[in-house]
Amino acid sequence: MNKKSESPALSCRKDHELGLDTDITRRDFIGGTCVGAGAVLLSMGSPGLSRAGVEGFPPPSIKLGPDWTGPGGTGEYSTSNGNTHEVLNLAHDLRNGNFEESLPSAIDTGESHDLVVVGGGFAGFGAALALQREFEGQKNCLVLDNHAMYGGEAKHNEFIVDGYQIYGPQGSSSFSVLRNNPTFHSVWHDLGLPTEFDHVPLSGTSKQIRFSLDPYAAMRLPDRASIGYFFDGADSGRQWVIDPHLNGFRDTPLSAPLQQELHDAFAHRRKPKHPEPSEQWLDGMTYREFLVNELGFSQAAFEILDYSYASDSSTASGDICSAYYAYLVDAPGTRVLPGQSDWGGDERDYLMFPAGNAGIIRHFVRSLVPAAFPPDATFEDVVIGPTNTAALDMAGNSTRIRLSSTVLKIEHDGIPEKAGHVYITYYRNGNLERVRAKAVVVATPGHVAKHVIRDLPGEIQAAYQEFHHAPQLVINVALTNWRFMETLGISAVRWFDGFGWWAALRQPMSTGGSLTSP
Ligand SMILES: Cc1cc2nc3c(=O)[nH]c(=O)nc-3n(C[C@H](O)[C@H](O)[C@H](O)COP(=O)(O)OP(=O)(O)OC[C@H]3O[C@@H](n4cnc5c(N)ncnc54)[C@H](O)[C@@H]3O)c2cc1C
Repeated sequence: MNKKSESPALSCRKDHELGLDTDITRRDFIGGTCVGAGAVLLSMGSPGLSRAGVEGFPPPSIKLGPDWTGPGGTGEYSTSNGNTHEVLNLAHDLRNGNFEESLPSAIDTGESHDLVVVGGGFAGFGAALALQREFEGQKNCLVLDNHAMYGGEAKHNEFIVDGYQIYGPQGSSSFSVLRNNPTFHSVWHDLGLPTEFDHVPLSGTSKQIRFSLDPYAAMRLPDRASIGYFFDGADSGRQWVIDPHLNGFRDTPLSAPLQQELHDAFAHRRKPKHPEPSEQWLDGMTYREFLVNELGFSQAAFEILDYSYASDSSTASGDICSAYYAYLVDAPGTRVLPGQSDWGGDERDYLMFPAGNAGIIRHFVRSLVPAAFPPDATFEDVVIGPTNTAALDMAGNSTRIRLSSTVLKIEHDGIPEKAGHVYITYYRNGNLERVRAKAVVVATPGHVAKHVIRDLPGEIQAAYQEFHHAPQLVINVALTNWRFMETLGISAVRWFDGFGWWAALRQPMSTGGSLTSP
């Protein structure tokens, strides 16, 4: 809207009609996004038309600059602080087909690998590790990733704040030890990761404050932390209620039926209507449908509980994600199946390494490329020490990790059913390069895979078009004004209006070295 061409009054009225003069909350944003997506789908004639519509949508032609990337802090992640402008510009070029004409001129590196893995996150490194475990390091593997640093979602940022070195996850941050899962233990053991953990004892306060061991679990499992609920409504006025779940939310300004619903949900007191609930059955509905249709919760209760769930579904809302996923993360109300010991329940630990799940992925890298870390590296050295990046892509390694390499095209050498090899073309340092492999594992998000795999069977290509994807923004904020929490005797805060809804201090893990701060 060009405001210069309109009277200020008209402009203000339009802003008001569009809701642009009001503060936006996360609920508004997610709700608005869902309504938008629903409206688009309803106006479409058929899935075929819908695909044509999506593909015909003009892609943005803007080239992003360094202001998109923003400050990267210090250390080896400083040039890889999320999807940087370089990464995004190349991804947009890939989607828009801007490389098509130049792809045939790619330089053949002459390399031939048993396996090429596209994507250096958990899935990609998991595939590389599986190959090396199965063939005891006798096969060679190349991992290609488009970022300047490995890890995918499991990367961290490093900052110096008020003289303290602190670490913030870029995405994936908390984990659980699946005590009864043999596959988990076998991989975890091979990676050299511990299963018992010490945490820094609480000091500097005389109050009995419960601390969660990760930032999110207490949203779903309120016993894990001392939680202050902050209400600021027109009727309630400003008030704090500490640990309202301990007395059935009775001290909150919520209505009595809503108090009862929250109590039921956090205590998992309601049973579904279905006589034989199963994992598959849960996967056939959203978390919202499960709460409202099966357990009889109100929409108002769902909207409060959804925040607890969204925290562990990577901020996707419970009216999009499946009830099965909610069950896996032990969301309120979901303990409806027998035998949850692997996944949920009060026994499960929710833990966080000092730098989030980058700590785990770095152990994958040490296992795949031992020279990436000193031979005598301690757990803490691997988690926060420097990576010998020169070792990652050395000839002779059974696994090589090649960074800043955006894969553009994967195609069979001939007819897919008969081809003995696959060619992988990628962009690196201003050049197009091509390698050969006996097999490829594509461990990128599907919205990338559908563009790079040229021989993808039609039905899979069609299925990919049915998926929606949306961006998520993770910002590391150094919270320096937290002392009010100690004054109130709490370690976490839940609020209902304005930006965000939750802040928590966690008890940091001791890693056996000098690092004791989060
Ligand atoms: C914000 C957020 C928070 C999360 N928090 C948690 C958590 O606390 N605990 C938890 O267990 N899980 C969490 N998850 C989920 C977890 O991060 C993912 O399940 C997991 O990291 C996915 O791993 P992946 O290897 O499949 O994908 P990714 O980690 O995304 O790795 C894929 C890699 O492929 C690269 N790639 C893409 N296109 C190309 C290309 N053309 N060429 C080369 N490389 C390419 C990508 O850039 C990326 O590096 C979170 C996810 C998000 C988004």
